[in-house]
Amino acid sequence: MIKVCKFGGTSMADGTNMLRIKRILESDEDRRYVVVSAPGKRFSGDIKVTDLLYQTLEEVLEGGHVGSSYQKIADRFRGIVHELGLKMDIDALLSEVQNGIETVRTADYAASRGEYLAGRIMAELLKIPFIEASEVIKFGTDGRLNGATTYALLRAALRGVKRAVIAGFYGADAEGNVKTFSRGGSDVSGAIVARAVGADIYENWTDVSGFLACDPRIVANPAGIRSLSYKELRELSYMGANVLHSESIFPVREADIPILIKNTFRPEDEGTVILPTQKCRPSALPVTGIAGKKNFTVIFLEKSLMNAEIGFALRVLEILFRHGISFEHIPSGIDTMSFVIDSAELAHGVLQEVCKEIEEVVSPDRMNVFSDVALIAVVGHGMSRNVGISARLFSAIARTGVNVRMIDQGSSELNIIVGVDNANYERTVRAVYEEFFREN
Ligand code: ASP
Repeated sequence: MIKVCKFGGTSMADGTNMLRIKRILESDEDRRYVVVSAPGKRFSGDIKVTDLLYQTLEEVLEGGHVGSSYQKIADRFRGIVHELGLKMDIDALLSEVQNGIETVRTADYAASRGEYLAGRIMAELLKIPFIEASEVIKFGTDGRLNGATTYALLRAALRGVKRAVIAGFYGADAEGNVKTFSRGGSDVSGAIVARAVGADIYENWTDVSGFLACDPRIVANPAGIRSLSYKELRELSYMGANVLHSESIFPVREADIPILIKNTFRPEDEGTVILPTQKCRPSALPVTGIAGKKNFTVIFLEKSLMNAEIGFALRVLEILFRHGISFEHIPSGIDTMSFVIDSAELAHGVLQEVCKEIEEVVSPDRMNVFSDVALIAVVGHGMSRNVGISARLFSAIARTGVNVRMIDQGSSELNIIVGVDNANYERTVRAVYEEFFREN
């Protein structure tokens, strides 16, 4: 059995936590490959090493060399090595990294050094080899992972290597320049390693005991989710349930490798397992989880006989395309169509320009723009097997007196998306949670 374990920033925050990791790994010899994040926050108000590294690059670009941010990073790593009582030459590594940041001068290179240093320390602590991620994780010219090359290189590097540490978050492009994933990307690195070695399970160790059915900042003590499918995870994490990087699903899903979310600080907790849909035991509840995000804009268009007008949607989409705007949903009726767009994409006068062009190009009878819309996704495979779920959902929302601005139900019946005013977001989430999770 092979388990790949990824440990997040809080799990790597200091020496004491790194010792927890060591114990977790030693308690199960199948836990063979370890992917690490850079040290994260130790307390609220603390700064993540990755953020300090971005600041370091700014200092270098301004003044030519590293400044006080790098001092903080160096102190942190020296402190960890000291706490762990390791005999490694951390000063030599810190000068190597300093030199690198001052000469390479890219944000990706600078940011990647947190994982690099953390990985080197973890390898020393566990007394196992360190695999350099830039030599095995490769991006193509399109900026996306080059899967074929990466899996072949990783497999070759790990062949015959019983245990190893791999730094998360980065790899290299075709020219060998260090390149990172987007923030939180060590989750993706872990999934890639799991896929490459054909792991039986990808354990993702973090600071919570898995997914909760709802944001705990909105509902006190929400139920935990014991298991969910990749598809449900994709919907929930895309809509803001951010336990796991939303792109980390793809490598493992292709190989049917389950993901297990575990808590480094409560290893005895069961956690959440994420499985292919067909392997997921049908949940007793119709809804698996609720997630949501604020700040969307809905552009609502109405035009008589829109259904018969060929190319209506295409022309509107062309306008969005020309402005480089991606849309989230397009709920439509016979003579109506709404375009739901993240408001950040429409800032600085772009919304006005887009509306003007829509007016000119498709001449709608009516165009209404609602800004400040929040979207709530109610997700669960169980919804398709149960009659009357939307009736319950909308009655619950109506009972709280909230007006629904938009509804979109994906054809997979995996989720129903409800748009409400930002101001009603929390209230609506609470009402939906009460309806589906606090029965009897
Ligand atoms: N250290 C990186 C970040 O803070 C990547 C990660 O932790 O996954 O985003």
